[in-house]
Amino acid sequence: MPARRANPNRVKQHRSYSVDELARCCDVHKNTVRNWQRNGLKPIDTIRPILFHGAAVRDFLTRRNSSRKRPCPPGNLYCFRCRCPRRPALGMVDFVPMRPGSGNLRALCESCEAIMHRRVREADIAKVMPGCAVQFAEGRASLSGQADPSLDCDSERLG
Ligand SMILES: [Zn+2]
Repeated sequence: MPARRANPNRVKQHRSYSVDELARCCDVHKNTVRNWQRNGLKPIDTIRPILFHGAAVRDFLTRRNSSRKRPCPPGNLYCFRCRCPRRPALGMVDFVPMRPGSGNLRALCESCEAIMHRRVREADIAKVMPGCAVQFAEGRASLSGQADPSLDCDSERLG
């Protein structure tokens, strides 16, 4: 993916930028600047043309880049409540197949017990979750879930 990461250092702290100027300064499309605004970049005020303060832009881009850079180390899933990678509670992880060969790992955060997900290729499970007992839970659950009611139906029909 050709991710174009804007460099916060190109923005001058003590300058104000219009959408146009900021787009040119960071070498991004004007729509990208509007996206930043939707994602929390605050303009100086709402008077048009909208201006952004350089310091606010730098702050926004720095935070944004660092949150993207944080990779999940092996044995961890990203907890959106803790906002950081966490180990699964009791080392228990479920694998939920989504497509042939890949799916989502699912576990409870050992710190806050929120449900965490991590997309993974089936072939990479051992690498991503070393030392964890990964259960292929969803497949089994749906099998047993379907089997019981149909048995009930059959027995009713027979009886
Ligand atoms: Zn958590």
